[in-house]
Amino acid sequence: MANYYCKCCGTKYTDLPTMLMEDCRYSASGKHQLFEGVAKNKFYCCYCGIKFNELRSLCLNSCNYSPTKHHVAYIGEEKKEYQCQFCGQSYKDLHTLCISPCRNSQSGRHFPAK
Ligand SMILES: [Zn+2]
Ligand SMILES: [Zn+2]
Ligand SMILES: [Zn+2]
Repeated sequence: MANYYCKCCGTKYTDLPTMLMEDCRYSASGKHQLFEGVAKNKFYCCYCGIKFNELRSLCLNSCNYSPTKHHVAYIGEEKKEYQCQFCGQSYKDLHTLCISPCRNSQSGRHFPAK
Protein backbone atom coordinates (compact mmCIF):
# COMPACT_ATOMS: atom_id res chain seq x y z
CA MET A 1 0.00 0.00 0.00
CA ALA A 2 1.29 3.43 -0.92
CA ASN A 3 2.07 6.09 1.62
CA TYR A 4 1.65 9.76 0.85
CA TYR A 5 3.47 12.47 2.71
CA CYS A 6 2.70 16.15 3.04
CA LYS A 7 5.81 18.09 2.03
CA CYS A 8 4.91 20.96 4.37
CA CYS A 9 4.32 19.14 7.66
CA GLY A 10 5.53 15.59 6.91
CA THR A 11 2.31 13.90 7.98
CA LYS A 12 1.82 10.48 6.43
CA TYR A 13 -1.42 9.44 4.80
CA THR A 14 -2.44 6.21 3.15
CA ASP A 15 -5.19 7.93 1.23
CA LEU A 16 -4.35 10.82 -1.09
CA PRO A 17 -7.82 12.43 -1.40
CA THR A 18 -8.08 12.58 2.42
CA MET A 19 -4.70 14.25 2.68
CA LEU A 20 -5.53 16.87 0.05
CA MET A 21 -8.83 17.75 1.74
CA GLU A 22 -7.44 18.37 5.19
CA ASP A 23 -5.96 21.62 6.45
CA CYS A 24 -2.24 22.06 7.05
CA ARG A 25 -0.94 24.87 9.19
CA TYR A 26 2.57 24.62 7.76
CA SER A 27 1.47 25.03 4.17
CA ALA A 28 1.32 28.40 2.39
CA SER A 29 -1.95 27.34 0.76
CA GLY A 30 -3.45 26.12 4.05
CA LYS A 31 -3.82 22.59 2.69
CA HIS A 32 -1.44 19.65 2.75
CA GLN A 33 0.69 19.34 -0.36
CA LEU A 34 1.95 16.07 -1.78
CA PHE A 35 5.65 15.34 -1.38
CA GLU A 36 6.66 14.21 -4.86
CA GLY A 37 9.98 12.63 -4.01
CA VAL A 38 10.67 9.04 -3.15
CA ALA A 39 9.78 8.56 0.51
CA LYS A 40 12.49 6.47 2.10
CA ASN A 41 14.02 6.53 5.53
CA LYS A 42 16.34 9.40 4.68
CA PHE A 43 15.30 12.90 3.82
CA TYR A 44 17.56 15.80 2.96
CA CYS A 45 16.79 19.49 3.10
CA CYS A 46 17.41 21.08 -0.32
CA TYR A 47 18.52 24.37 1.24
CA CYS A 48 21.03 23.18 3.83
CA GLY A 49 21.56 19.49 2.96
CA ILE A 50 21.00 18.26 6.51
CA LYS A 51 19.73 14.69 6.70
CA PHE A 52 16.68 13.56 8.65
CA ASN A 53 15.32 10.09 9.28
CA GLU A 54 11.75 11.30 9.19
CA LEU A 55 10.11 13.77 6.85
CA ARG A 56 8.11 15.09 9.77
CA SER A 57 11.15 16.15 11.76
CA LEU A 58 12.64 17.78 8.66
CA CYS A 59 9.45 19.79 8.12
CA LEU A 60 9.04 20.90 11.72
CA ASN A 61 12.59 22.10 12.34
CA SER A 62 13.78 25.52 11.32
CA CYS A 63 16.39 26.10 8.62
CA ASN A 64 18.78 29.06 8.48
CA TYR A 65 19.25 28.74 4.73
CA SER A 66 15.66 28.39 3.61
CA PRO A 67 13.59 31.42 2.48
CA THR A 68 10.65 30.03 4.47
CA LYS A 69 12.86 29.40 7.54
CA HIS A 70 11.81 25.75 7.48
CA HIS A 71 13.68 22.87 5.91
CA VAL A 72 12.26 21.81 2.56
CA ALA A 73 12.62 18.20 1.48
CA TYR A 74 14.85 17.50 -1.50
CA ILE A 75 12.84 15.43 -3.97
CA GLY A 76 15.70 13.98 -5.98
CA GLU A 77 17.24 10.58 -5.49
CA GLU A 78 20.16 10.00 -3.19
CA LYS A 79 23.27 10.27 -5.37
CA LYS A 80 27.03 9.87 -5.31
CA GLU A 81 27.34 13.42 -6.58
CA TYR A 82 24.97 16.33 -6.45
CA GLN A 83 24.93 19.03 -9.07
CA CYS A 84 23.94 22.66 -8.73
CA GLN A 85 21.00 23.47 -10.98
CA PHE A 86 22.31 26.97 -11.65
CA CYS A 87 25.99 26.49 -12.42
CA GLY A 88 26.37 22.72 -12.81
CA GLN A 89 29.16 22.39 -10.27
CA SER A 90 29.05 19.04 -8.52
CA TYR A 91 29.70 18.01 -4.94
CA LYS A 92 29.92 14.66 -3.21
CA ASP A 93 28.01 15.99 -0.28
CA LEU A 94 24.65 17.77 -0.43
CA HIS A 95 25.39 19.85 2.64
CA THR A 96 28.61 21.25 1.12
CA LEU A 97 26.79 22.06 -2.11
CA CYS A 98 24.01 23.88 -0.26
CA ILE A 99 26.23 26.08 1.87
CA SER A 100 28.79 26.98 -0.83
CA PRO A 101 28.48 30.26 -2.75
CA CYS A 102 27.16 30.23 -6.33
CA ARG A 103 27.55 33.08 -8.80
CA ASN A 104 24.62 32.04 -10.97
CA SER A 105 22.05 31.65 -8.25
CA GLN A 106 19.80 34.46 -7.02
CA SER A 107 20.17 33.36 -3.42
CA GLY A 108 23.96 33.42 -3.78
CA ARG A 109 24.23 29.70 -2.96
CA HIS A 110 24.09 26.53 -4.97
CA PHE A 111 20.79 24.70 -5.15
CA PRO A 112 20.65 20.97 -5.96
CA ALA A 113 19.23 19.82 -9.29
CA LYS A 114 16.83 16.86 -9.01
ZN1 LIG B 1 0.78 19.25 5.85
ZN1 LIG C 1 17.44 23.11 5.76
ZN1 LIG D 1 25.81 26.80 -8.31
